[in-house]
Parts: sequence; C-alpha cells; structure tokens
Amino acid sequence: MTEPHQSTIVALATPPGKGGVSIVRVSGPLCHDIAQKLLGQSIKPRYAHYLPFRDLTGQQLDQGIALFFDGPNSFTGEDVLEFQGHGGPVVMDLLIETILSCGAQLAKPGEFSERAFFNDKLDLAQAEAIADLIDSGSRQAAKSALRSLTGEFSQQINQLVEKVIYLRMYVEAAIDFPDEEIDFLADDKVTLQLDEIVKELKQLLSSAHQGSLLREGMKVVIAGKPNAGKSSLLNALSGKESAIVTDIAGTTRDVLSEQINIDGLPLHIIDTAGLRQARDKVEQIGIERASKEIEQADRILLVVDSSDGEVHLAQQEIRQFIDSEVELPPVTLIRNKCDVTNEVAGIATENSETVITLSAKKRLGLALLKSHLKQSVGFEASESGTFMARRRHIDALTRASHHLQTGYAQLVEMAAGEILAEELKLTQNCLNEITGEFSSDDLLGKIFSSFCIGK
Ligand code: GDP
Repeated sequence: MTEPHQSTIVALATPPGKGGVSIVRVSGPLCHDIAQKLLGQSIKPRYAHYLPFRDLTGQQLDQGIALFFDGPNSFTGEDVLEFQGHGGPVVMDLLIETILSCGAQLAKPGEFSERAFFNDKLDLAQAEAIADLIDSGSRQAAKSALRSLTGEFSQQINQLVEKVIYLRMYVEAAIDFPDEEIDFLADDKVTLQLDEIVKELKQLLSSAHQGSLLREGMKVVIAGKPNAGKSSLLNALSGKESAIVTDIAGTTRDVLSEQINIDGLPLHIIDTAGLRQARDKVEQIGIERASKEIEQADRILLVVDSSDGEVHLAQQEIRQFIDSEVELPPVTLIRNKCDVTNEVAGIATENSETVITLSAKKRLGLALLKSHLKQSVGFEASESGTFMARRRHIDALTRASHHLQTGYAQLVEMAAGEILAEELKLTQNCLNEITGEFSSDDLLGKIFSSFCIGK
C-alpha cells in the first residue's frame, strides 16, 4: 500500500511490572541482525528456541524463548522477533536497551498495528478492533470486538461496496450509452438493487449502533435536590458504597462517577453536587462541574423525595444552574423513597416524561430503572451479530445511507441518472472510509471487462 518501513521498532508487548513471563517484540529489517547479536545465531522461522539472551558485550541478560516470523508471514507483515523472558522490569529494560543499541527505535503507541495496516495484513476496522478487544469492559464487548477483528464487519462492508460498484456500473453505462434501445434506468432492476442496498445498510447501521453502545456506553447524570437520595441511588445501581450517604443536606460536594454494566451496556453514572445555591467556594465548584456533566449526558435522572411532598423539580430549575443555552438531555423523574410512602414501585408516563417510583435504600424498582435505561438508547442485549463499532463507523454508515437516499430520490423524482451515479460514488467512498480501502476508481475498465454492452 505504501513504502515499506525502513526502521526497526521494539516495545514491551506485555504489561509493565512483574510477572512470570514478559514479551519484547521487534519488527523491521534489523531482526536478523538483532537475533545474531543477542542470541548468537539466526533462528528458524516459527520455531520456539530456548536460548540465553545476551547484551552486546556477551554478558547474559536472561534466558528464554525466542521466536522469529519472517515477513510477510507475520503480524506486521515485516520480519518480527519475539523474546519471551522472565517478567521483571529491570531484565526487560536491559533487553530493550540492548535492542535499541543495535539500531532499533522504541515503537510509538499502536505502531505494530499501524504497520500491519500499511502492509495489508489488517484493514482499518480490524486494526481498531484490536484496541477495542483489549479495552473491552464486558464479555459482550469482547465478543463483538473479536467479530470485527476476524473481519466479519469488514466483510459485510466490502460486500455492500461491491453491490454499490455493480449498480454504479449499470447506471453509468445507461448514461454513457443513451441511445441503447433499452432504458436502463426505467427498468426496475435499479430500484430493486437500490432497495436491497438500503435494507442492508440499515441492518449494518443498527448492529453497528449496538456495537458502539457496547463500547461507548451511556452517560447518565443523577441530579436533584440535596437529600433526595441521589448518592443512595448511585450506590444501589453500582452495588458499591462509593458515594457518602448522610442525612445532612449538601454532603455530596463533588461529581462522583461510577461505571456499571447492565447486560453488557456500560453505564457511566455521574452523581452531582446537590443542585442548589452554593454556600461556599467548594460547593460552587461542585455545582459548576455538575452543570457541565448535565449538558453532556444522554439522560438525566432527576431524583425527588416522594415522602416530603415535593413534586416535580421542573427543567427550569435545573436550567438555572447551567450557564449555557444548550438543549437539556431527556429527563426521567425518579420518585424515590417509595418505602416511606408505602407506594408500589412502578413505571409510568406523565406529560410525556417517564416517571419511575422506587426505593434506592430498600432496592425496590431498580430492575425497572435499568431496563428503562437500556430501552432509552435502543440497546438490545444480544450475543450474536453485533460488531464492535466506533462513532467513526456510525458516522460513515450514516453518511453512506444519506447519499444513497438522496440518489434514490433523484432517480424516482427526476429520473436523474447522473446524480444517482454521483451519490452512489459518495456512498462507496463513505463505506470505504470504514475499512480504509480506497480502491481505484477505474470504473470504465470494470464496465468493459464485466459488462457486456451488447455489441
Ligand atoms: P443525596 O443528598 O441526594 O445524595 O441523598 P442521600 O443518598 O445522601 O440520602 C439522603 C438520606 O435519605 C439518607 O439518610 C438516606 O439513607 C435516605 N434515603 C435515600 N434513599 C432512601 C429510600 O429509598 N428510602 C428511605 N427510607 N430513605 C432513603
């Protein structure tokens, strides 16, 4: 894809610190040379060699397993050398220092994967999936990342790209050969294909949305007056005692954050300082932070104490603590302390707002709240078919879908073949952004090689 890398890079592939085994990975043209200097011999590719590792003066540093993968049959597509030594930070540092003195450079973050991408070992979506697999916060997230890493997501994108290219060929042929007896654009072949692509793109977008939720999660702010039970709700949802719960109003002085997991959906819960006028500077800072968190959230849980006759803390009341004029996220009203009022936990809709009656302290109605939160972002806990996706992918799929719809409308309303062809090209470009493949645009060659124009 690009010029091969001339430099050789080295890095610790395992986490820093002490452990049974640590691995140092090297990639690039100096691997043979480094093996010769540190191991005293060239090693056979894909065989485990148990050998002493030495520095350049011949002093033994460690003893372990050395592996060699000759390019292009390696992760990066270049020659790769791996040293599996004893997991001590000093030993590993000495090993890396020796490799650096052989002319290698310290790898930048992600550089091994980047080289794999440039050498066509992985596409962009797969390279991203490596990071997502490592970072995954739940089993479901790990499974989806693996599905993307093994190329299932990319494969579906590529199949869709092929369909778009095929349709482009057909439409462009109709434009280039207007004197043909058949009116290419008028037959329903084009609309049938367009319908199919629209449908597949929609499915892909929906499973990418699920994947992105698995990765990014949902941000929920717990807001409300002091003593309403915000910290108690946070504790009840997270199952931990992270917030200080007292009956002195204003105990929660700062923004506290928790991450819990509802069937694989990461929920970033933020408990804010009680929304009220600050009495001192510390409290003021807490309130300022709270307003920022509120602006950025996917949903606000507005907690009220149903036992003190307090009704609804209107949105305007939240608004007075927020300086900017940004639109507030949707609000769910939580009527807490239902154990005191002897109400039954439940969920209802009042004035198009969801109202959940529960007791944080007695752990009543929490399941209702959790399933409401999942529903509000359209999260479906599914073990299969979800790909790990990022906002970048969703954005590209959304733009692809937009171009497709525009082209479709132009065809139906104005019989505008040229505009459809252009929109199909833009659809293709958006899809290619996901895998990072910018295929050659030699459409004409494709038309003549695979299309029989009839003469
Ligand atoms: P915050 O200031 O909004 O964070 O409120 P806290 O969570 O600190 O709770 C204030 C007081 O209300 C504490 O004494 C809690 O034990 C109590 N509390 C919170 N939730 C409930 C509930 O569901 N039932 C009852 N009976 N008391 C609650």
